[in-house]
Amino acid sequence: MKKVILTGDRPTGRLHVGHYVGSLSERVRLQNSGDYDEIYIMIADAQALTDNAEHPEKVRQNIIQVALDYLACGIDPEKSTIFIQSMVPELTELTFYYMNLVTVARVQRNPTVKSEIKMRNFEASIPVGFFCYPISQAADITAFRATTVPVGEDQMPMIEQCKEIVHKFNSVYGETLTDPQIVLPSNKACLRLPGIDGKAKMSKSLGNCIYLSDEADVVKKKVMSMFTDPNHLRVQDPGKVEGNPVFIYLDAFCKDEYFAEFLPDYQNLDELKEHYQRGGLGDVKVKKFLNKVLEAELGPIRERRKMWEQRIPDVYDILQAGSEVAEKKAAETLNDVREAMKINYFDGDFALN
Ligand code: ATP
Ligand code: MG
Repeated sequence: MKKVILTGDRPTGRLHVGHYVGSLSERVRLQNSGDYDEIYIMIADAQALTDNAEHPEKVRQNIIQVALDYLACGIDPEKSTIFIQSMVPELTELTFYYMNLVTVARVQRNPTVKSEIKMRNFEASIPVGFFCYPISQAADITAFRATTVPVGEDQMPMIEQCKEIVHKFNSVYGETLTDPQIVLPSNKACLRLPGIDGKAKMSKSLGNCIYLSDEADVVKKKVMSMFTDPNHLRVQDPGKVEGNPVFIYLDAFCKDEYFAEFLPDYQNLDELKEHYQRGGLGDVKVKKFLNKVLEAELGPIRERRKMWEQRIPDVYDILQAGSEVAEKKAAETLNDVREAMKINYFDGDFALN
Protein backbone atom coordinates (compact mmCIF):
# COMPACT_ATOMS: atom_id res chain seq x y z
CA MET A 1 0.00 0.00 0.00
CA LYS A 2 1.17 3.51 -0.81
CA LYS A 3 2.17 5.73 2.11
CA VAL A 4 0.26 8.99 1.83
CA ILE A 5 0.17 12.06 4.07
CA LEU A 6 -2.73 14.51 4.26
CA THR A 7 -2.74 17.43 6.64
CA GLY A 8 -3.59 21.10 6.60
CA ASP A 9 -4.50 24.35 8.28
CA ARG A 10 -7.35 26.80 8.30
CA PRO A 11 -6.50 30.14 6.63
CA THR A 12 -7.89 32.14 9.55
CA GLY A 13 -4.59 33.83 10.34
CA ARG A 14 -0.86 33.50 9.90
CA LEU A 15 0.63 30.36 11.41
CA HIS A 16 2.13 30.41 14.87
CA VAL A 17 4.74 28.52 16.85
CA GLY A 18 2.03 26.14 18.14
CA HIS A 19 1.44 25.02 14.56
CA TYR A 20 5.16 24.73 14.08
CA VAL A 21 5.85 22.37 16.97
CA GLY A 22 2.46 20.64 16.81
CA SER A 23 2.42 19.79 13.15
CA LEU A 24 4.54 21.79 10.69
CA SER A 25 7.99 20.65 11.82
CA GLU A 26 6.79 17.04 11.85
CA ARG A 27 5.51 17.42 8.28
CA VAL A 28 8.85 18.77 7.12
CA ARG A 29 10.62 15.88 8.83
CA LEU A 30 8.32 13.30 7.23
CA GLN A 31 8.59 15.06 3.87
CA ASN A 32 12.38 14.90 3.96
CA SER A 33 12.48 11.31 5.25
CA GLY A 34 11.67 10.09 1.75
CA ASP A 35 9.39 7.42 3.28
CA TYR A 36 6.19 8.74 1.72
CA ASP A 37 4.87 8.23 -1.79
CA GLU A 38 2.57 11.26 -1.78
CA ILE A 39 2.19 14.26 0.52
CA TYR A 40 -0.81 16.60 0.38
CA ILE A 41 -0.94 19.80 2.40
CA MET A 42 -4.28 21.54 2.31
CA ILE A 43 -5.18 25.14 3.02
CA ALA A 44 -8.67 24.55 4.41
CA ASP A 45 -10.49 27.66 3.18
CA ALA A 46 -13.91 25.96 2.95
CA GLN A 47 -13.54 24.82 6.54
CA ALA A 48 -12.43 28.31 7.60
CA LEU A 49 -15.61 29.71 6.05
CA THR A 50 -17.77 27.49 8.29
CA ASP A 51 -17.19 29.93 11.13
CA ASN A 52 -16.15 32.94 9.06
CA ALA A 53 -18.97 33.10 6.52
CA GLU A 54 -19.22 36.84 6.98
CA HIS A 55 -15.50 37.38 6.54
CA PRO A 56 -14.52 35.92 3.16
CA GLU A 57 -11.83 38.63 2.75
CA LYS A 58 -10.09 37.42 5.89
CA VAL A 59 -10.02 33.86 4.57
CA ARG A 60 -8.86 34.98 1.13
CA GLN A 61 -5.99 37.08 2.47
CA ASN A 62 -4.80 34.36 4.79
CA ILE A 63 -4.49 31.75 2.05
CA ILE A 64 -1.31 33.40 0.81
CA GLN A 65 -0.10 33.99 4.39
CA VAL A 66 -0.43 30.30 5.23
CA ALA A 67 1.26 29.32 1.95
CA LEU A 68 4.17 31.64 2.80
CA ASP A 69 4.43 30.09 6.26
CA TYR A 70 4.58 26.61 4.71
CA LEU A 71 7.34 27.54 2.32
CA ALA A 72 9.20 29.38 5.08
CA CYS A 73 9.17 26.26 7.28
CA GLY A 74 10.61 24.09 4.55
CA ILE A 75 7.58 22.50 2.88
CA ASP A 76 9.02 21.85 -0.56
CA PRO A 77 6.56 22.06 -3.48
CA GLU A 78 8.76 19.58 -5.37
CA LYS A 79 8.07 16.97 -2.70
CA SER A 80 4.68 18.01 -1.29
CA THR A 81 1.47 19.04 -3.04
CA ILE A 82 0.17 22.26 -1.50
CA PHE A 83 -3.44 22.96 -2.51
CA ILE A 84 -6.56 24.98 -1.67
CA GLN A 85 -9.52 22.97 -0.37
CA SER A 86 -12.28 24.78 -2.29
CA MET A 87 -10.44 24.21 -5.56
CA VAL A 88 -11.20 20.50 -5.15
CA PRO A 89 -15.02 20.34 -5.35
CA GLU A 90 -14.94 16.53 -5.13
CA LEU A 91 -14.41 17.02 -1.40
CA THR A 92 -17.85 18.61 -1.05
CA GLU A 93 -19.57 15.72 -2.79
CA LEU A 94 -17.81 13.18 -0.59
CA THR A 95 -18.87 15.16 2.47
CA PHE A 96 -22.48 15.03 1.32
CA TYR A 97 -22.44 11.24 1.08
CA TYR A 98 -20.60 10.76 4.38
CA MET A 99 -23.19 12.91 6.20
CA ASN A 100 -25.60 9.99 5.89
CA LEU A 101 -23.25 7.76 7.85
CA VAL A 102 -22.97 9.97 10.96
CA THR A 103 -25.59 10.88 13.55
CA VAL A 104 -26.11 14.37 14.95
CA ALA A 105 -25.59 12.92 18.44
CA ARG A 106 -22.19 11.54 17.41
CA VAL A 107 -20.97 14.93 16.17
CA GLN A 108 -22.35 16.56 19.31
CA ARG A 109 -20.23 14.21 21.39
CA ASN A 110 -17.01 15.14 19.56
CA PRO A 111 -14.94 16.87 22.29
CA THR A 112 -13.14 19.21 19.88
CA VAL A 113 -16.43 20.37 18.35
CA LYS A 114 -17.82 20.85 21.86
CA SER A 115 -14.92 23.00 23.02
CA GLU A 116 -14.78 25.01 19.79
CA ILE A 117 -18.52 25.78 19.99
CA LYS A 118 -17.95 27.01 23.53
CA MET A 119 -14.88 29.05 22.55
CA ARG A 120 -16.79 30.76 19.74
CA ASN A 121 -19.87 31.42 21.91
CA PHE A 122 -22.08 29.81 19.29
CA GLU A 123 -24.48 28.31 21.86
CA ALA A 124 -27.78 27.88 19.99
CA SER A 125 -26.60 29.57 16.80
CA ILE A 126 -24.14 27.00 15.47
CA PRO A 127 -23.87 27.20 11.68
CA VAL A 128 -24.78 23.79 10.19
CA GLY A 129 -21.60 23.91 8.11
CA PHE A 130 -19.46 24.39 11.19
CA PHE A 131 -21.24 21.56 12.96
CA CYS A 132 -20.48 19.26 10.03
CA TYR A 133 -16.83 20.12 9.66
CA PRO A 134 -15.58 16.84 11.21
CA ILE A 135 -17.40 15.09 8.36
CA SER A 136 -15.83 17.33 5.75
CA GLN A 137 -12.47 16.65 7.36
CA ALA A 138 -13.11 12.92 6.90
CA ALA A 139 -13.75 13.66 3.23
CA ASP A 140 -10.43 15.52 2.98
CA ILE A 141 -8.49 12.69 4.56
CA THR A 142 -10.12 9.85 2.63
CA ALA A 143 -10.16 11.65 -0.74
CA PHE A 144 -6.37 11.40 -0.80
CA ARG A 145 -6.33 7.86 0.62
CA ALA A 146 -4.19 9.23 3.43
CA THR A 147 -2.50 6.62 5.58
CA THR A 148 -0.84 9.20 7.84
CA VAL A 149 -2.21 12.43 9.31
CA PRO A 150 0.37 14.48 11.25
CA VAL A 151 -1.58 16.96 13.42
CA GLY A 152 -1.77 18.42 16.91
CA GLU A 153 -3.53 16.70 19.79
CA ASP A 154 -6.75 18.70 19.39
CA GLN A 155 -7.33 16.82 16.15
CA MET A 156 -7.45 13.37 17.76
CA PRO A 157 -11.27 13.25 18.02
CA MET A 158 -11.47 14.28 14.35
CA ILE A 159 -9.33 11.38 13.23
CA GLU A 160 -11.36 9.00 15.40
CA GLN A 161 -14.54 10.27 13.79
CA CYS A 162 -12.95 9.89 10.36
CA LYS A 163 -11.99 6.28 11.11
CA GLU A 164 -15.58 5.55 12.15
CA ILE A 165 -16.82 6.93 8.84
CA VAL A 166 -14.30 4.81 6.95
CA HIS A 167 -15.38 1.65 8.80
CA LYS A 168 -19.06 2.42 8.34
CA PHE A 169 -18.63 3.18 4.64
CA ASN A 170 -16.59 0.03 4.04
CA SER A 171 -19.04 -2.16 5.93
CA VAL A 172 -22.10 -0.75 4.11
CA TYR A 173 -20.72 -0.37 0.58
CA GLY A 174 -17.73 -2.73 0.55
CA GLU A 175 -14.01 -2.15 1.13
CA THR A 176 -13.37 1.21 -0.57
CA LEU A 177 -11.79 3.78 1.75
CA THR A 178 -8.37 3.81 3.40
CA ASP A 179 -8.10 3.84 7.18
CA PRO A 180 -5.84 6.72 8.33
CA GLN A 181 -3.45 6.84 11.29
CA ILE A 182 -2.81 9.99 13.29
CA VAL A 183 0.81 10.99 13.99
CA LEU A 184 1.24 13.17 17.06
CA PRO A 185 4.46 14.95 18.02
CA SER A 186 6.63 12.71 20.20
CA ASN A 187 7.59 15.63 22.46
CA LYS A 188 4.74 16.04 24.97
CA ALA A 189 5.17 19.82 25.21
CA CYS A 190 4.38 20.05 21.49
CA LEU A 191 1.02 18.28 21.67
CA ARG A 192 -0.84 21.43 22.57
CA LEU A 193 1.33 24.49 23.04
CA PRO A 194 -0.32 26.99 25.41
CA GLY A 195 -0.80 30.66 24.52
CA ILE A 196 1.47 33.42 25.83
CA ASP A 197 -1.44 34.26 28.16
CA GLY A 198 -1.21 30.80 29.74
CA LYS A 199 -4.51 29.66 28.17
CA ALA A 200 -4.60 25.97 27.32
CA LYS A 201 -3.98 26.39 23.58
CA MET A 202 -2.21 28.89 21.42
CA SER A 203 -4.84 29.62 18.81
CA LYS A 204 -5.30 32.17 16.04
CA SER A 205 -8.85 32.71 17.25
CA LEU A 206 -7.71 33.56 20.80
CA GLY A 207 -5.07 36.13 19.81
CA ASN A 208 -2.45 34.66 22.18
CA CYS A 209 0.11 33.68 19.57
CA ILE A 210 3.73 34.12 18.60
CA TYR A 211 3.55 34.07 14.81
CA LEU A 212 6.21 32.56 12.59
CA SER A 213 6.25 35.86 10.71
CA ASP A 214 6.65 38.08 13.79
CA GLU A 215 9.74 40.28 13.67
CA ALA A 216 12.46 39.64 16.27
CA ASP A 217 11.48 42.67 18.38
CA VAL A 218 7.81 41.60 18.42
CA VAL A 219 8.76 38.08 19.53
CA LYS A 220 10.90 39.56 22.29
CA LYS A 221 8.06 41.78 23.51
CA LYS A 222 5.67 38.84 23.57
CA VAL A 223 8.13 36.60 25.39
CA MET A 224 8.86 39.26 28.01
CA SER A 225 5.10 39.70 28.60
CA MET A 226 4.46 35.97 28.96
CA PHE A 227 2.43 34.47 31.73
CA THR A 228 4.58 32.46 34.20
CA ASP A 229 4.01 31.05 37.68
CA PRO A 230 1.76 33.68 39.36
CA ASN A 231 3.19 32.79 42.81
CA HIS A 232 6.80 33.36 41.74
CA LEU A 233 6.86 37.00 42.77
CA ARG A 234 10.41 37.54 44.00
CA VAL A 235 13.58 36.05 42.54
CA GLN A 236 14.28 34.07 45.71
CA ASP A 237 10.82 32.43 45.72
CA PRO A 238 10.62 28.80 44.60
CA GLY A 239 8.85 28.61 41.23
CA LYS A 240 6.67 26.04 39.49
CA VAL A 241 7.71 24.71 36.11
CA GLU A 242 4.65 22.48 35.53
CA GLY A 243 2.03 24.41 33.60
CA ASN A 244 4.40 27.38 33.33
CA PRO A 245 4.27 28.43 29.65
CA VAL A 246 7.86 29.72 29.62
CA PHE A 247 9.13 26.27 30.59
CA ILE A 248 6.68 24.50 28.30
CA TYR A 249 8.06 26.56 25.39
CA LEU A 250 11.59 25.64 26.46
CA ASP A 251 10.53 21.98 26.58
CA ALA A 252 9.25 22.38 23.02
CA PHE A 253 12.15 24.32 21.50
CA CYS A 254 15.28 24.04 23.62
CA LYS A 255 18.27 21.91 22.66
CA ASP A 256 21.27 21.35 24.97
CA GLU A 257 23.59 23.23 22.60
CA TYR A 258 21.60 26.45 23.23
CA PHE A 259 22.86 26.42 26.82
CA ALA A 260 26.49 26.40 25.71
CA GLU A 261 25.67 29.22 23.31
CA PHE A 262 23.36 31.46 25.36
CA LEU A 263 23.37 30.39 29.02
CA PRO A 264 26.62 28.54 29.83
CA ASP A 265 25.94 28.54 33.62
CA TYR A 266 23.68 25.54 32.99
CA GLN A 267 24.27 22.32 31.06
CA ASN A 268 20.70 21.59 30.17
CA LEU A 269 17.04 22.33 30.79
CA ASP A 270 16.82 20.02 33.81
CA GLU A 271 19.43 22.11 35.63
CA LEU A 272 17.61 25.33 34.78
CA LYS A 273 14.29 23.90 35.98
CA GLU A 274 15.87 22.64 39.17
CA HIS A 275 17.21 26.13 39.98
CA TYR A 276 13.84 27.74 39.26
CA GLN A 277 12.07 25.26 41.54
CA ARG A 278 14.62 25.78 44.29
CA GLY A 279 14.29 29.59 44.11
CA GLY A 280 16.85 32.23 43.19
CA LEU A 281 16.19 32.29 39.45
CA GLY A 282 14.18 35.21 38.09
CA ASP A 283 11.58 35.06 35.32
CA VAL A 284 13.39 37.75 33.33
CA LYS A 285 16.54 35.65 32.99
CA VAL A 286 14.56 32.62 31.84
CA LYS A 287 12.53 34.72 29.40
CA LYS A 288 15.66 36.29 27.93
CA PHE A 289 17.05 32.82 27.34
CA LEU A 290 13.76 31.62 25.79
CA ASN A 291 13.83 34.63 23.48
CA LYS A 292 17.31 33.70 22.24
CA VAL A 293 16.24 30.09 21.71
CA LEU A 294 13.18 31.22 19.76
CA GLU A 295 15.26 33.60 17.69
CA ALA A 296 17.68 30.78 16.81
CA GLU A 297 14.72 28.66 15.62
CA LEU A 298 12.57 31.36 14.03
CA GLY A 299 15.29 33.54 12.46
CA PRO A 300 15.93 31.23 9.46
CA ILE A 301 12.16 30.71 8.96
CA ARG A 302 11.60 34.48 8.93
CA GLU A 303 14.39 34.97 6.38
CA ARG A 304 13.00 32.29 4.03
CA ARG A 305 9.56 33.85 4.36
CA LYS A 306 10.93 37.25 3.30
CA MET A 307 12.51 35.62 0.26
CA TRP A 308 9.17 34.06 -0.78
CA GLU A 309 7.35 37.36 -0.13
CA GLN A 310 9.32 38.71 -3.10
CA ARG A 311 7.87 35.91 -5.28
CA ILE A 312 4.10 36.06 -4.66
CA PRO A 313 3.11 35.19 -8.28
CA ASP A 314 5.26 32.04 -7.98
CA VAL A 315 3.47 31.14 -4.77
CA TYR A 316 0.11 31.40 -6.55
CA ASP A 317 1.48 29.20 -9.34
CA ILE A 318 2.47 26.60 -6.75
CA LEU A 319 -1.04 26.69 -5.26
CA GLN A 320 -2.73 26.42 -8.64
CA ALA A 321 -0.55 23.56 -9.85
CA GLY A 322 -0.98 21.79 -6.49
CA SER A 323 -4.76 22.19 -6.62
CA GLU A 324 -4.84 20.57 -10.07
CA VAL A 325 -2.83 17.58 -8.89
CA ALA A 326 -5.03 17.28 -5.79
CA GLU A 327 -8.24 17.42 -7.79
CA LYS A 328 -7.13 14.54 -10.02
CA LYS A 329 -6.44 12.34 -7.03
CA ALA A 330 -9.73 13.25 -5.28
CA ALA A 331 -11.67 12.58 -8.50
CA GLU A 332 -10.28 9.04 -8.62
CA THR A 333 -11.44 8.35 -5.07
CA LEU A 334 -14.84 9.93 -5.76
CA ASN A 335 -15.23 7.58 -8.72
CA ASP A 336 -14.53 4.59 -6.48
CA VAL A 337 -17.01 5.93 -3.91
CA ARG A 338 -19.76 6.39 -6.49
CA GLU A 339 -19.16 2.94 -7.87
CA ALA A 340 -19.30 1.41 -4.39
CA MET A 341 -22.55 3.30 -3.68
CA LYS A 342 -23.95 2.22 -7.05
CA ILE A 343 -24.55 5.79 -8.16
CA ASN A 344 -22.55 5.31 -11.35
CA TYR A 345 -25.72 5.14 -13.46
CA PHE A 346 -24.21 5.69 -16.87
CA ASP A 347 -21.30 3.29 -16.62
CA GLY A 348 -22.79 0.76 -19.01
CA ASP A 349 -24.93 -1.64 -16.98
CA PHE A 350 -28.32 -0.67 -18.40
CA ALA A 351 -30.27 -3.82 -17.38
CA LEU A 352 -33.85 -3.34 -16.10
CA ASN A 353 -33.97 -4.70 -12.58
P1 ATP B 1 -8.35 28.34 14.62
O1 ATP B 1 -8.35 29.10 15.90
O2 ATP B 1 -8.82 29.11 13.43
O3 ATP B 1 -8.99 26.97 14.73
P2 ATP B 1 -5.80 27.14 15.11
O4 ATP B 1 -4.74 28.04 15.65
O5 ATP B 1 -6.49 26.18 16.03
O6 ATP B 1 -6.81 28.06 14.33
P3 ATP B 1 -5.82 25.19 12.98
O7 ATP B 1 -5.66 25.66 11.58
O8 ATP B 1 -7.17 24.83 13.49
O9 ATP B 1 -5.16 26.30 13.94
O10 ATP B 1 -4.85 23.94 13.25
C1 ATP B 1 -3.87 23.51 12.33
C2 ATP B 1 -2.98 22.43 12.90
O11 ATP B 1 -2.14 22.94 13.93
C3 ATP B 1 -3.72 21.26 13.55
O12 ATP B 1 -3.01 20.09 13.24
C4 ATP B 1 -3.66 21.55 15.01
O13 ATP B 1 -3.71 20.37 15.76
C5 ATP B 1 -2.29 22.20 15.14
N1 ATP B 1 -2.27 23.16 16.24
C6 ATP B 1 -3.00 24.30 16.33
N2 ATP B 1 -2.75 24.94 17.47
C7 ATP B 1 -1.82 24.19 18.13
C8 ATP B 1 -1.12 24.34 19.39
N3 ATP B 1 -1.36 25.37 20.18
N4 ATP B 1 -0.23 23.38 19.75
C9 ATP B 1 0.02 22.31 18.94
N5 ATP B 1 -0.59 22.13 17.75
C10 ATP B 1 -1.50 23.05 17.35
MG1 MG C 1 -8.28 24.99 15.22
